[in-house]
Amino acid sequence: MSEYKKICRRCLFSDMGEEAYKEMISAHVDIIKEADRTDEALYKSRLDTCRECEKLNAGTCASCGCFVEIRAALKRSSCPNKKW
Ligand code: SF4
Repeated sequence: MSEYKKICRRCLFSDMGEEAYKEMISAHVDIIKEADRTDEALYKSRLDTCRECEKLNAGTCASCGCFVEIRAALKRSSCPNKKW
């Protein structure tokens, strides 16, 4: 029997399982230069805000279409709705 993991609208890719995260997000975040990358505390804070946001839709932002885990990893990036 194959394993089925339900994906909810309020899920980040990291919440959907390790494979989804590695394939979709981690590879992109890993190539961001250290100088351009958000520090861990701020990254977590940004993603906690996204998790509570009505615009989060299965890892993407309904306002701008971005993958929030990539957008949040960029130091100079910001939320399109000024939540972070
Ligand atoms: S980037 Fe902003 S608007 Fe988009 S899901 Fe995150 S908090 Fe919500």
